[in-house]
Amino acid sequence: MKALGHPCWRCGHNIDPTLDPRHPLSFTLDHVIPLSRGGSLLDPANARSMHRRCNSAKGNRVGPQPLKTSRSW
Ligand SMILES: [Zn+2]
Repeated sequence: MKALGHPCWRCGHNIDPTLDPRHPLSFTLDHVIPLSRGGSLLDPANARSMHRRCNSAKGNRVGPQPLKTSRSW
């Protein structure tokens, strides 16, 4: 996938795609145009690489996430 390996669009740091999807620094795709409004899922012009925490920090707050301390990464 082309977006893999790109730095985070929001903070500019690299994203490790091998992290657990629930990890705050895991790879997520942010869509400039929401899919519900006709945006393309994997169009590089529409999809931006983001950390999970950066993606969730920009918009709607989901509420306090339980921070799980993992020692295996
Ligand atoms: Zn980030």
